[in-house]
Amino acid sequence: MTGEHVDPRSLAGRTAIVTGGGRGIGRAIALELARAGANLVITYRENRALGDATARELRAEGVGCVVTQVDVRRGGDLDRMVEEARQTFGGVHILVNNAGMRADNLVMRITDEAWDQVLDTNLRGTFLATKAVLRHMIRARWGRIINMTSVVGLSGNAGQANYAAAKAGMLGFTRSVAQEVASRNITVNAVAPGFVMTDMTAGLSDEQKEAILGRIPMRRFAQPEEIAPLVAFLASEAAAYITGQTITVDGGLVMS
Ligand code: NAP
Repeated sequence: MTGEHVDPRSLAGRTAIVTGGGRGIGRAIALELARAGANLVITYRENRALGDATARELRAEGVGCVVTQVDVRRGGDLDRMVEEARQTFGGVHILVNNAGMRADNLVMRITDEAWDQVLDTNLRGTFLATKAVLRHMIRARWGRIINMTSVVGLSGNAGQANYAAAKAGMLGFTRSVAQEVASRNITVNAVAPGFVMTDMTAGLSDEQKEAILGRIPMRRFAQPEEIAPLVAFLASEAAAYITGQTITVDGGLVMS
């Protein structure tokens, strides 16, 4: 016996897909996974330059990286994304369903289009991407799926009924798929950030920020880099017995 120790946190030899990995939380997650040794496929929808810039940072970590344009509302895009991952790196082991958007309004003012757009991007996109990778994970008898939901999916939030419904839907989806594939060594978990400093929250007024800060026990917003380590852990062998869970990273905002 050589007794060689393999770090259960290492992602060496794994391939990870991070949707929306070009900026914000997705970028921080992709960098964390790369530092743990994973090859990356990151996607962008509109901001190609940011996707390319992030890809350069990832390659500088010494891993392979493919950057590709995907609209998560389109199943064909997601099938192509998985094929690119398989052809370049030989498989897909980790999927982070990170791409998301919000279109806030009071429920009486949410248009049918804004409802569909938010549900289609956050919830249907998660379903379509999961379906696209799952066949390959089942065959390989190993996989990690991590869905980026939000504390708003747990608590609700006035002015975000569409976003909260989509993010809460992702939790039911996470728990259901976790039960379907647990026997194949595939775990499915959700990460629920509180308020994170990204483009998504940059548009909040000072008044809105003050009101939110007042409810956060830690009295500050998170940086994207504070969300990423949990995702890397859940993606690793070290988290093999954790599935169907929702873990909040929110400075204490929502405690259950
Ligand atoms: P962000 O800065 O607004 O970035 C959103 C990302 O999603 C971008 O990469 C964007 O691509 C991509 N995207 C949007 N619509 C897409 C579509 N239809 N198809 C493919 N990609 C699409 O957001 P973030 O703050 O990093 O949030 C990342 C995730 O965390 C989201 O799911 C969000 O709901 C969740 N979250 C965020 C917060 C927060 O406070 N920021 C809190 C809780 C949960 P392009 O760059 O090409 O536009």
